[in-house]
Amino acid sequence: MEAHVLPNLLQEIVCKITELVGEESFYNLGPFLRAGKRGYALAHEPSVMKKCDVSEIEDGFVTCQIRQGCQFREFHLKCVSAGNRKAIYFEGLLTAPSIGLEKSIKILEPNVLMHGFSTLAVAIFNVCLGNDKEASKVFQLFAAYHHDLRSDDTCEMGESIENQLKAFGAEDLNCNKYGESFKFPDDGVIKTPRCVYGHDYADNLEGDCKNCRLFWICVNIANIL
Ligand SMILES: [Zn+2]
Repeated sequence: MEAHVLPNLLQEIVCKITELVGEESFYNLGPFLRAGKRGYALAHEPSVMKKCDVSEIEDGFVTCQIRQGCQFREFHLKCVSAGNRKAIYFEGLLTAPSIGLEKSIKILEPNVLMHGFSTLAVAIFNVCLGNDKEASKVFQLFAAYHHDLRSDDTCEMGESIENQLKAFGAEDLNCNKYGESFKFPDDGVIKTPRCVYGHDYADNLEGDCKNCRLFWICVNIANIL
C-alpha cells in the first residue's frame, strides 16, 4: 500500500472524515496513524482529538492502558489537552487517588457544566475536601443542567463514578479517607438530610431513601478515594 492518504482530496474533507470515524471510536484512527505522515498528522488534529470517542479505553483490559507508561497514555494526554470531554473525565478520576482531589478538580474543571459526570464528580470531591459552599454551587449547576439531585439518574451516575474509580484501581477500604474534612452542604438550597443515621438498616439500605441518597453517594465515593 502506498504511504499516503488520497493526496488529491481536499485537506478539510479528509480532516472531516477523520473526525467522523474518530467520533465512532478512537480505534478507527489507528489506520490513519499507520498510513503515513499525513494520516498521522490528521489523527492528531486538535479537532479530531477533541471529538474522538475514547469510551473503549474504560472497557475491560484497556482500562489500565491510559496510566503512566502504558500504551495509550500519550494519545490519551493529547486528547485531554485538546479538550476531549471523556478523556478529561477519565484523567480526573484516574488521578484523584494519587495526586489529590484539589488537582483532580482542576483537571475536571473545563468539563463542569456541560459534562454531567464530571460536574457531579467535582461536587462530590468538594464535599470530601470540606468545601461545602463550592459543592453546593456545583450540585446546583448539575441539577440545573442535568438531573434532579434526588432522581434515579443522579443515583445511577454516582454509582457509575464509583465503578469507574474502582475500574481504575482505586480500592474500597470501607472507611472514609476524607472523614475529617468531609462536609455535605447544609444551606438554603441543599440540606444535609436529617434522616441519614435514622434508618433501620435491616430493611432500608442506603440509597432507598430519596432524602439521603446523594449523601450516601458522597460517602461511598469518599470511601473509594
Ligand atoms: Zn433518609
